[in-house]
Amino acid sequence: MGELREWDRIYVGGRWVASSAGDVVDVVNPFTEDVCARVPAGDAADVDAAVAAARAAFEPWARTPVPERTALLTAVGEGVGARMAELGDMIAEEVGMPINLATMIQVGLPMMAFSSMAPVVASFGFEEEVGNSLVVREPVGVVGAITPWNYPLHLVADKVAPALAAGCPVVVKASEVAPSAAFVLAEIMDAAGVPAGVFNLVSGTGPVVGEALVASPGVDMISFTGSTEVGRRVAATAAATVKRVALELGGKSANVVLDDADLAGAVRASVTSSFLNSGQTCSALTRLLVPRRRLAEAEALAERLCADYEPGDPFAPGTRLGPVISAEDRDRLRARIRAALEEGARLVAGGAEPPPGLDRGFFVRATVLSDVRPGTRVEQEELFGPVLTITAYDDDDEAVAIANGTIYGLHAGVWSADPARALAVARRLRTGMVEVNGGVFNPLAPWGGYKQSGNGREHGRWGLEEYLEVKSVQR
Ligand code: NAD
Repeated sequence: MGELREWDRIYVGGRWVASSAGDVVDVVNPFTEDVCARVPAGDAADVDAAVAAARAAFEPWARTPVPERTALLTAVGEGVGARMAELGDMIAEEVGMPINLATMIQVGLPMMAFSSMAPVVASFGFEEEVGNSLVVREPVGVVGAITPWNYPLHLVADKVAPALAAGCPVVVKASEVAPSAAFVLAEIMDAAGVPAGVFNLVSGTGPVVGEALVASPGVDMISFTGSTEVGRRVAATAAATVKRVALELGGKSANVVLDDADLAGAVRASVTSSFLNSGQTCSALTRLLVPRRRLAEAEALAERLCADYEPGDPFAPGTRLGPVISAEDRDRLRARIRAALEEGARLVAGGAEPPPGLDRGFFVRATVLSDVRPGTRVEQEELFGPVLTITAYDDDDEAVAIANGTIYGLHAGVWSADPARALAVARRLRTGMVEVNGGVFNPLAPWGGYKQSGNGREHGRWGLEEYLEVKSVQR
């Protein structure tokens, strides 16, 4: 921590090579506002070289026996574990997430992504007989993986682990905003003995490196995690070469509290999920929907919990709320809070003012807004910051309609004392994931969105299937 981390090479064809562009991207620490790392700003020629290396590696890697592939992934998971503290530090520094959470979540989950592949693949049927046909699952080919900054190693691992297990070489374009962990992963891949060309890393910006990867005729599939806006563009560009596209996009997830629910538990779940990583989590339950008669009680509970989220130094013990990622995001979020109040929302906690006592860092206060009307901007648009909205409803049908009333469909929560009633409501929600009464995250269950939250699934056997083609052989 403290010194500038410099990566002056990209990882292509099993070697660290200079980028043909010769430019760099500066990475800013959102707490100190200083440049903390520097990576090459690659270009289209770098993408071409990486795609060529991946194409050359495809046939031998696809023919490598599955247990050999997954043994390498297990070794990679161990390699991530061996560098856990260092990775946690650099992610806390570049993303601003408090260090304990960053280490546990941002490094723990990628370890699990790599180590989970051996058992997933062992129980997966790659071949089946259907009448006179043999149906075989084969790797889709060269995969381009494009990822955001908010969980910079986890989201790379969620693509690379199943793609490699399936037999697909990858070219990774990690976010330029928090890129260092992907460089460490390349070192770990190299040390584990992953064959040349199977894992490639080209750093740089979306409009240059990302676009070139999506447009490349040598790439068979793009797996993209990021904003819905960029996801639309990725899908449009990929259409020219009819490549497969898997999209994991934004969210505006509702937490539906039914009238018989444990309100305190439900409010705590929304607050915890909305302020985790300063609200920069795609699946955050940022819209709390409560029965009208319990609105005041919900507001009081949320206000009290906000006291635990005083903004502070991500490396100071006890900090639960770090900065948001950039000055631009801080200003955008504060403007959005002000606009919501002008739209008729009522401030319960936090607000658009700078938090007291902090003279640096891109901070936004943990904010709760109530009287948020369905259909207003703050209720519809993904904010990607520490802002929770509360909306009152009159009956279950209205609650379901409000929950389903955005362009997104990533995640939702349902709370009820009656599990059957909660499950019935969960079935009516147009989202890829629902947690009932705080049901915990399951890394082997499918992860992904309905509607404009995307069209792919990650994790477990569903994550593996993304990277497989289906061939029928009639005999
Ligand atoms: P972003 O869309 O700005 O960027 C994502 C990636 O796409 C980055 O690597 C970026 O460089 C690249 N990119 C930008 N323009 C591109 C282009 N024209 N062509 C190809 N690539 C391009 O998103 P972000 O700000 O990094 O991340 C935040 C967003 O990600 C939020 O909307 C969040 O909800 C979403 N997200 C979704 C999930 C999920 O699982 N559904 C998980 C995490 C984050």
